[in-house]
Amino acid sequence: MARGDLFLITAPSGAGKNSLMEALVDLLGDDGRLAFVVSHTTRPPRATERHGVDYHFVADAEFERMVAGERFLEWAHVYDHRYGTAADEVLPRLERGIDVVHDLDVQGAERLRARMPEAHSIFVLPPSFGELRRRLDLRGAEEPGARARRLALSLSEIERYEEFDYVIVNRDLRPAAEALAAIIVEKRHRRARMREVAEAIAGDFRAALGDAAGTGRGRTE
Ligand code: 5GP
Repeated sequence: MARGDLFLITAPSGAGKNSLMEALVDLLGDDGRLAFVVSHTTRPPRATERHGVDYHFVADAEFERMVAGERFLEWAHVYDHRYGTAADEVLPRLERGIDVVHDLDVQGAERLRARMPEAHSIFVLPPSFGELRRRLDLRGAEEPGARARRLALSLSEIERYEEFDYVIVNRDLRPAAEALAAIIVEKRHRRARMREVAEAIAGDFRAALGDAAGTGRGRTE
């Protein structure tokens, strides 16, 4: 079974990553060939978030234990909390041929790329500063102080788009999601990943033509 591909998606907070992920599932379908990493974090859940779905929300001590046990492929301090990618969320799925999509910050993407250079990295840009601010205001999830800090950090994040393989501007959700889906679908059709399927089809032809040749001979004999 060919390994799945790992897609690292990074965007400044409020660039619309969550809606993009939902639109991606709508486009690619829920056929078990795509999985999303659920990160671990020490941040408390927001009102709408669910444990094990949005994040694995863990206490500092549990996070520490996981760091000590080398259970993370990478982890980072983001804003005031820690976030990490558990190896168990990624490696077994890739082995089973499943594509894994992971949203993480710029430092996380950098560290994960260093560890898994075969990963494909995608930077999602908001169309403008004004639009990013508007989206954060609409979301209203953070204290005004925290939101202002995220906005102030967004420029230093955006300037790092150069480190990524792909760039998508999330101006309108649908075309942005289609661009992301296209990148994933393209990887699925690389020869190395298609070999098994192509060989099975070729084998079908060999068997059928071999049979036909045999039958043909039978008729003339
Ligand atoms: P939020 O608190 O808004 O959910 O996420 C804050 C930041 O943490 C986002 O930039 C998000 O991409 C990043 N993040 C989420 N999961 C991980 C992870 O597993 N590792 C790293 N390094 N960053 C993460």
